[in-house]
Formats: sequence, structure tokens, C-alpha cells
Amino acid sequence: MRLIESGGVRLAFYEDGDPGNPTILLVHGYPDTHRVWDELVERLRDRFHVARYDVRGAGDSTAPRGPGGYAFDHLAADLAAVLDAIGKPRVHLVGHDWGSIQGWDALGRPGLRTRLASFTGFGGPGADQIAHFMRHAGPLRVADQSLRSWYIGLFQTPVLPELAWRRFFPRLLARTLRRTDGVGPRPGHPARTLLADGRNGIGLYRDALSRRLAHPGDPAVEVPVQIIAATRDPFVSPALARSLTRWPARAWYRRVAAGHWIQRSHPDTVARMVGEFVAHLEGAPPARELRRARVRTGGRAYADHLVVVTGAGSGIGRATARAFAAHGADVVCADRDVAAAQQVATEIARLCRGGAVPYEVDVGDAAQMATFARWVRDHHGVPDVVVNNAGIAVSGPFMEHRLDDWRRTLDVNRWGVVHGCRLFARQMIERGEGGHLVNIASLAAFVPTTSLSAYSAAKAAVKTLGDCLRAELAGYGIGVSTVCPGFVSTAIARNTTYVGTDRRAAAERALRRRAYPPERVAAHVLRAVRRNRAVVPVNAEGRLGYVLSRLSPGAIRAITRISGVLASGTRNPGVGR
Ligand code: NAP
Repeated sequence: MRLIESGGVRLAFYEDGDPGNPTILLVHGYPDTHRVWDELVERLRDRFHVARYDVRGAGDSTAPRGPGGYAFDHLAADLAAVLDAIGKPRVHLVGHDWGSIQGWDALGRPGLRTRLASFTGFGGPGADQIAHFMRHAGPLRVADQSLRSWYIGLFQTPVLPELAWRRFFPRLLARTLRRTDGVGPRPGHPARTLLADGRNGIGLYRDALSRRLAHPGDPAVEVPVQIIAATRDPFVSPALARSLTRWPARAWYRRVAAGHWIQRSHPDTVARMVGEFVAHLEGAPPARELRRARVRTGGRAYADHLVVVTGAGSGIGRATARAFAAHGADVVCADRDVAAAQQVATEIARLCRGGAVPYEVDVGDAAQMATFARWVRDHHGVPDVVVNNAGIAVSGPFMEHRLDDWRRTLDVNRWGVVHGCRLFARQMIERGEGGHLVNIASLAAFVPTTSLSAYSAAKAAVKTLGDCLRAELAGYGIGVSTVCPGFVSTAIARNTTYVGTDRRAAAERALRRRAYPPERVAAHVLRAVRRNRAVVPVNAEGRLGYVLSRLSPGAIRAITRISGVLASGTRNPGVGR
């Protein structure tokens, strides 16, 4: 620790790592100290020179005396003094909460911005940018953010906030940390100086924020900025976080499904994001996740996204792989028929700007799927979207289904989806940037069919699994959609195993006549991901079956019985009872 003099206060300043490496300067928020960064420093100091300090009035730094001591000019002077102590022409600034508010302010100051190679901010938008948002965003968004900022009004009142620090703020802080961030206290955070820090830092709101919100400056900035939006941050609304991307000339926007103190709850993710960003601005090629995070106007929706599609060699899988690639994604085309997958990858390379690679896998085989998921992560990274599409059908009366027919149907249609969800959701959770799982079920998931008992049971399981996972994975920012097509003109009727009577020719004819192309299902898949839809019935019979199954399950069962009788030509003893 070194002490740095700045305008009548002494700032406690700390360094880690080799000063020969690029420097990252971490600025903490309110009511924290430099110790809030401990986990991050541990993960960054091998590759970077990491500097941090206690801001005025916090931790081991002294507090200003007299009124106005926390105005932005003083905070900027402190930052300049710290930059002088580091002694490098440019550093990468990272700010959290009030550290981020200060960072945005520094980006607008001629004397400081030229000394900043980049800025990463989270949990605190700039005051000029907040002012713009509160004046121009829609009333609902403004109301949402105002409710989240309730404490700013309290901090403008005399005495009350000081009293609150003595009474309930420390408990409120501990509860917020536990509830929204899932982390408990540890040595250094909250700091032993919390009560004094809390009372001193009220000056930030009184001297700095209220004045700037009343008289904002130009929100545009030239320095490259990475904005990390924590989706469960109780203090910054998603709309406000997203609105920040319009101000930097070069912006990157990343989301973490977490609360306010993400450097404590998700240190691996934050360290990776900061490390990737800084390394890139120092000349390294950008990681896929960073490329994807770049904010561009008019770009393609899935540019730099990685999408995995199973059963991509034919029908709906092929159309889905091609559609994602046409929107800029790189696609892994997985199929047990690797020649078909290769063919689709070649088509994509010829037609689209997105890339594609084939992979041979039997989705029903747990070991093969585990190897596949590892291969995807090691060679291409964690996928952003996984479409569990591969499927087979066995058609015929229940009593004609052999055990092996059941086993194969459930292995591919049910276990294939379970494996895909388990393996890739784990990767998405570990990466911490969310993702989307799409499971292709069927109309058969909610409309029973007499000749498709095994298939329907498997598809119903896929739909219920999707409903469960959607609720469970939402907290990780992972969306789950179940797409339920009616009849689609693909090769599925030809590929189906028929037990009892062989109805292949009639089934193939019927599907051909339906003339519903798989490309239209693919369009629904992309829309489901974009809008994070839960269940998507596709085409007329899909939608009608879905609505009827909810309005009148009895009617659906009756229709199934009657159509079963007509199809088999025998009298069903259940009919008419
Ligand atoms: P498709 O044209 O037969 O395509 C299915 C693809 O999945 C084929 O390339 C197939 O390879 C592959 N596959 C089958 N088992 C696999 C396994 N164990 N591991 C890896 N790949 C495997 O059928 P589709 O109509 O596109 O069907 C796609 C999905 O949509 C299925 O889940 C299906 O149940 C569902 N669906 C289809 C319809 C429809 O009317 N077409 C309606 C509702 C739902 P092979 O060629 O080697 O078998």
C-alpha cells in the first residue's frame, strides 16, 4: 500500500502483478473499499498489472473536510493523482457502482480520457447518461428506474441517511448481498470501516450526483467501453444498462445473470470479460464472446454466435442450421449421418457468410454426447444456442411395438434432448453469459395419436422437460423454448419404422401433400430464440391442436379415438361409452 496525496486527502493505493504488463485500474463503488476486488485481482494479476485504491472517504483513505468535498472535480483529481502514481501513458479503467459512475465522468474529461485505453463499467451508469435516459426514455422505463433509485432521494435529506446507516443499512446491505448475489460476508467485504464509509460516501450523492443530474454534460464518449449488465441488479434497470451502448463510439455489451456485486458472485466470468477486452485492445484477436458483444447498428442478428443443431443432416434440422447461418451464426451440424451433415455444412459455406462444421454423433448415446459437448467447447467455445432436433418415429399399434422400438424412440427423442440440455446448459452456466436451448417436440406432445404411442410419450416428456428447465434455468439467463410442429414435409415419414401394417407410402404421400416446408419451422425457431418464447406450436394443425388440448382435452381424446377407429377399420370398444 502507498499513500497518494490529492487535494487535501490521502488515498490508499495498492498494486498487484508485474508492472511490465498492461495496467488495469479498478475503482470500487459505494459503500465498498478496494477489498471488494480481491477475487478479481487474484484472477487477473498473472497476466496484468492490477492497481486499485480506496476512494476518498472509504477504507484507509481519508475523507475530505468541508462542503463539496465529493464533487466530480475532486473525484477526477483523485483519479488523475492515481494515474500519475501508476506512471504509464494509458491504463484500462474498470469501475463498479460509484466507481463506474466516476469512470463515465472521466471519459468525458479532456485531461483524463486520453490517459484511458479502455473502460469497463458495471452496476453504475454515468450521470450524464442517466440524465439523458430519465428525460427521453418511456414513462414505464423511467418509473422502473426511479423505483430502483429510491435511496438517491433519501440521501438528499439531512440526518436521515446518517441515521439509516446507524440503524438498518448494514443489515439491508448484508441481506441484498445474500439474496440477490448469493454471497455472504468475507474478510474485507463488507469492510471493517463500513459504517464510516457509508456515512462519508453520502457526500457522493449530495455533492456530485444531484448537481450533475440537474446540469448534465454531453453523454457521448470516444474511449472504447465495455458495459457489463447484471440482469438482476436491483439498482440499475436492464433498459438503463442497455441505453448506455449508444454513447461510446465503440461499445461492447455483455450480460451476466447476476445481482449487483458480480465481481464477488461471478469472479471467473467478470475476470474473463475484463481480460478478453483488455487483451483485445492491447492487440490480441478478439474471443468469439467479445466479437458477439460488439454493438453494431444494422448487423446480422446472430453474427458471431455459435449454434449447435442436432439432426442437422435433414429436414427441420437442416433448415434451422441454414437459417441461423444466414443470419451470421457459426453452426455445428451434428447428425448420426455425418455425410448428410457434411453436405449441409458445404451448402452453408457456399450460400451464407456464417461458417459450419459437421460432427457425427448419436444423440441417444450418453458417452458420445459427452464427447461431442467437450469437442464443441474445446474447438469452438460454448454455444449460444443449442437446438435439440434429432428425432425418429415408430408408427403402428401399441401392441405391435417391440421393447426395442420403445427403447430406440425414447433414447433418441427423449434422452437425446436430456443429454443436449444437461451438457450444454452446464457449459452455459459456467460461462455465465446465458444462452438458449430449443427442443423440437411435436404436435404429438399434446395431441395423442393411436399409432404413435412411443413417439408421443417421448415428445410429451420433451415438452414437460422444457417447462421445468425454463423455470429452473431462467436465473442463469438461459432461455428454453419448446417448438411443436404439426405435419412438416420432410423425410421423416420415409425414415420412420412401421410396425404392424407398413403405411410408409401413404404416410410419405400425406406429408408431401401437406406441403409445409421445414424452412417455415426454422423461422419459428429463430423467432422463439429472439423472443424467448416458451412453447411454439407451428402451423395450422399445430396451433389448433395446442388450443384444443388446453380448452377441451376431452374433445381431443374423443377425436383421437374416432380417428383411430376410422384408420384401423375396427370397432373401438371405447367409442360411444
Ligand atoms: P428427418 O428429415 O428424418 O431428419 C431427422 C434427422 O435427425 C436425420 O438427419 C436423422 O438422421 C437425424 N437423426 C436421427 N436419429 C439420430 C440420432 N440418434 N442422432 C443424431 N441424429 C439423428 O426428420 P424431421 O422431420 O426433420 O424431424 C426433425 C425433428 O422434428 C424430430 O425431432 C421430429 O420428431 C420433429 N417433428 C417433425 C415433424 C414432421 O412432420 N416432419 C413434426 C413434428 C415434429 P438419419 O437420416 O440417419 O435418420
